[in-house]
Parts: sequence; structure tokens; C-alpha cells
Amino acid sequence: MRGAVHSHLEESIRPYIDLIDTLRSAGIHKDLALPTIIVIGDQSSGKSSVLEALSGVPLPRGSGIVTRCPLELRLKKVNVGVNWKAVLSYSNNKIEFVDSSLLENHVHAAQNELAGKGVGIRDDLITLEIMSPDVCDLTLIDLPGIARVPVNGQPQDIGNQIKRLIRKYIEKQETINMVVCPCNTDIATTEALKIAQEVDPDGKRTIAILTKPDLIDRGTETRILDIVHNKVIPLRKGYIMVKCRGQQQIDDNISLEEAAQMESDFFRTHEHFRCLLEEEKATIKSLAVKLSQHLVGHIKKSLPQLNEQIKKKLWDLKNELKECEAGPPQDPKGAKQFLIKTLTRFNEEIKSLSLGEQITEDHLFVQLREKFRKWHDHLNSTKTFCHSNEKKYRGRELLGFSNYRTFENVLQRHVATHKAHAIKLLNIIKGIVTHLHVHVRVLSIKPKECLSFDVCIFFFLKTSSYSNSLIQQAKAEQRISEQFEMEGMIYTQDPIYLKFLNEISDEKYSEDQLPVLDKKSKYSEMLQAYSEVGYIVVQRMSDQLPMMISFFMLKETAQLLSTDMLSLLDGVNVSELLFENSDVGRRRKDLQTSLDRLTAAQEALSDFI
Ligand code: GDP
Ligand code: MG
Repeated sequence: MRGAVHSHLEESIRPYIDLIDTLRSAGIHKDLALPTIIVIGDQSSGKSSVLEALSGVPLPRGSGIVTRCPLELRLKKVNVGVNWKAVLSYSNNKIEFVDSSLLENHVHAAQNELAGKGVGIRDDLITLEIMSPDVCDLTLIDLPGIARVPVNGQPQDIGNQIKRLIRKYIEKQETINMVVCPCNTDIATTEALKIAQEVDPDGKRTIAILTKPDLIDRGTETRILDIVHNKVIPLRKGYIMVKCRGQQQIDDNISLEEAAQMESDFFRTHEHFRCLLEEEKATIKSLAVKLSQHLVGHIKKSLPQLNEQIKKKLWDLKNELKECEAGPPQDPKGAKQFLIKTLTRFNEEIKSLSLGEQITEDHLFVQLREKFRKWHDHLNSTKTFCHSNEKKYRGRELLGFSNYRTFENVLQRHVATHKAHAIKLLNIIKGIVTHLHVHVRVLSIKPKECLSFDVCIFFFLKTSSYSNSLIQQAKAEQRISEQFEMEGMIYTQDPIYLKFLNEISDEKYSEDQLPVLDKKSKYSEMLQAYSEVGYIVVQRMSDQLPMMISFFMLKETAQLLSTDMLSLLDGVNVSELLFENSDVGRRRKDLQTSLDRLTAAQEALSDFI
């Protein structure tokens, strides 16, 4: 099969095949099905032999499953004089070589890497691009042959695995299914043809290759001719008979060129099959031409539909991407700025929070006021402690005299009873504030899609807010203790004391009279006034504690937290924080990649439509 085979076709064929190859290289087949020829057949039906004859290079062959991964064979005709060259690509590997005898080893190595050493199969595609003056422009995908009986070491369901893989490829409307069947078996019962019929019952996109015509039993020729003439199992794309090298010829090192000559001689001299030459239903040569024509026809037909699919997919992708808020910038500088902006926004929110602006659903100050009110009510409920216990508190003094120490003691003990309550209040407020800090993150740190970032900030915030509030809580507790100690000193200014005393007494006292107050023997009034001093203490604490707690737990904690958040800027590896893969991040990235490749595909297609 020399270059001259179909040079006249080249110009019309090549651009279309190149287009599809380009789309496939760009990964479009991950988004859409592309027009392709898929080679299927039972084991030993002659698939490799046909592909070999088409490509002009010996492909791996042997008994058992030789093709263990889908192998995409891209044949590219280059000008006469340009040397043979092959490029093998799989997963992230790309191997170029100019010595065709290395091909088999390279393909074996690739299969071993993808499917593991042994006899297993894998769905990963290996692409083999062959540039040669001796090939036609054609791209085909060779699939593992259908095994009927598992060989040693093969999983019991190997047959089903292979069939599943084949179905996956050939069920797409975009594929041309090239079914290889040996003439010397009952064609109607070949497994491969059955599968092809399942997915293409009308035989619109199935072409059958009949191999091994030299091995048929005498007398079966007419029946086989009927098949080739589409009289038995009609296929729109018909049948082609080819004769490849038999085992003996391979062993005898008959070259592919010699084999092509022998094939031509075989048909020319064959008593029954001679007619097929004229009908262009025989030889590898006409198979190559037919395949190219079919493929290009198929591509041409598929292009408008492909274009529509790309348009629709692009539209969907753009919408999906819109839903996925723009992620953090990918460049280091942009990422840093993004982080600064986000943290600043967070700090502003925290500041607003501590200033009492409503930024979350549960208004912080509503909650605080409620807790503070309870504190006030608690203090008030204990205000009348003295009245009921007058006698209990009397000391050794004669009736009508009062002992200041006793009075002081009573008040001190009373004040001290509130301390536990005050600490409890502090704890409650601490809980509310730390919870809200973490909650503010939800409002201010975007995008949520950058999960790793969000999670990282969440934990940082949680620990920072927690440790800060612990420190502040200790400080506040210290201040509360001091306050209680101070209140133990029992003090108020004379005018304030007088104001209370005068409110409850019939007589009005002035500051001058105070030193003789005791002698007036207004025992009950005095006692009540004492208790009112207690009330002064109560009133003072009712305000003081909420103020202290707010100051330490809200204002100062917010400040500390803001400083901590900004320290993230030098402590943390910005790119790691923002780039680490998260599910959503990955999804966004995938969408973007799809979008890029479909846009490129649309551009490539626009020349053809
Ligand atoms: P595969 O398993 O489908 O890839 O089949 P192969 O291409 O490895 O072929 C299986 C065997 O059939 C090999 O020994 C080939 O030499 C032989 N074979 C393939 N085609 C022909 C042919 O047209 N005539 C003869 N006589 N043998 C062939
Ligand atoms: Mg094979």
C-alpha cells in the first residue's frame, strides 16, 4: 500500500481527519463523542493484522489478549522522502521514535503501565501517531478482542469486561464500527458482529471486514460471496474482504509490502473472489480508501450537529461557571491581594459587630442586653435582704446603738454572694461572642467554593477567637474579682447616701446632722438606709459588670482577633491556602478546562461550517 493509493483523495480528506484529531487532542472526546472508526472483533479474528497492513508497521501480536487498552491509531501521510516517525502518548507520557522496530516494545510498556503487567484490560486510551509516506490518512481505535474463555490469570468475567468496554465505545452514534470477522467461521454467530448489531440494528454505521479468505473450506465460497454482496446480513456500509499475512508468512518474515502484493495476486487469481476486486470489495488498499471516505463522510455529516452540541455545552458550562462564584486569583500577587481584601472585610465586620451593628441574623446586642437584664433582675431581687433579718444582725450594742462593723459585715457578705453569678454571666457572654465571630466568617469570607480556604479560616478563627476570649475572660475575671473586693469596702458619697436616707425617712436630714444621726435612735430607718446602701452597691454593679464584660469580651477580643487575622498574611503560605484542591475548586477548574477546550474546538470548527 504505497502513498499513491489515494493521493487524489488526500486534499479532501486530510483536513477533516486533522480536525477531529485536533479536537481529540484537545480532549473534546471527554465532553462530546467524536466521529471515529472503532475496530472490534473476536480474539484472533485478524484485527491486528488488518491494522498492521493499514499502518504499514508491525503491531504487537500474539496469542491471548494483546490489545489490553484502547489503542488509537492515527495514521498520517507525509510527503515521500520524509522519514517514518511515531509518537506514542498515554496518560502524561509522550514518546517519539523513528525506529519502527521499537513500536511493539513501546506499546507493551504503555499497556503494562496503564493496565498493569499481566492480562487485565483498562479503559485508558493509548494514542499512537504514525507519520509515514506509506500510510493513508486515517484514525482508528483498536479495542481488546472478545475473549470467550479466560486464560490463566484472567478474571472470570474478562469476556464481559471486554464487551462492556466495546459497547461503551460503539454505542455512540458518532462511531463507525469496523467489525473484523474471519471468513472461515460462521459469520452470523461472531460475537463482535452481534454486539455491533445490538447498537446499530439497521447496520447504518457498521462495516464488516472479512479476513482469512485463504483459509476457507472448499465449497463455502458462494455462501461467503453472498455475505459480501450484502445478501445475508445487510450492512449499509457493506463488506470488504482482505487477506493478511498468515502465521507462516509472519514466521517467514514476509514483509508487509510483499504481503500486499501477495494479497493482490490472491484475489486476482481467485476463482470465486476475483470479482470482488472490480467491485472494490477486496484488498487492504480499497479498505483504506473506503475507510477514509466513510470516516470523512461521517465527519462531514457530524459537523453541524457537533457544532450545535458544542454551542449548547458552552452555554451550559458558562452558566455552571457563573454559579460557581469566581474563585481566588491563581497568580501569587493576585492571591495575596485577595487574601488581604478578604481579611480586611472580615475585620470590618467584626468591628461592626462589636459596635453593636446588626450584621448577623441574631443581633448580638439583643442577646447581650437580655443576659445583662437578667443580671440586673437578679441583683434587684436580693435588695431587701436587710429588712427581714434585722435581729439576726444585731451585735453586742445596746438597743438604739448600731455597730458599723456589723453593718459592714452584713453588706460584705451580701455583695460576695453575687460573685458566682457575675462569673456565670461572663461565661455566657463569652460563648455568645465566640460563636458570633465564627459566624461572621460565613458572611464576609468569600468565596465559599474555596473550601480549603474557608475551612482553614474557620479553624484559625475558631482557635484564635477561642484563645483570645480565654485571655480576655481571665482578664475580665480578674477585674470582676477586684471590683468585688472594692465593693467590700462599702462606700458611697455622703450626698448619695443622704438622698436615699431622706427618701425613706419622715425627717429630712442635712449633711451637718449626719455625725449625730446615730444618736437620734432612728434604728429602723437607719437599718433601712443601710440596706439602701446595699442597694447603691447593687445598682453600681448592675451597670459595672456589663460594661466590664463588654469591654473585655467584645471590644478587646475583636481587636485581638483582627490583629490575629492580619498576621495570617505573613504566617501562612498564601498559595497553599488558596490553591489547595477542594471539591468545588476542582469542579470550577474542570469547568474552566472544558470551557477552554470547547472554545478552541468551536474556533477550529468555524472553518468548516
Ligand atoms: P487479532 O487477535 O484479532 O488481533 O488477530 P491477529 O491479527 O493477531 O491474527 C490472528 C492470526 O490469524 C495470526 O496468526 C495471523 O497471522 C492470522 N491471520 C490474520 N489474517 C489472516 C489472513 O488473512 N490469512 C491467514 N492465513 N491468516 C491470517
Ligand atoms: Mg490483536
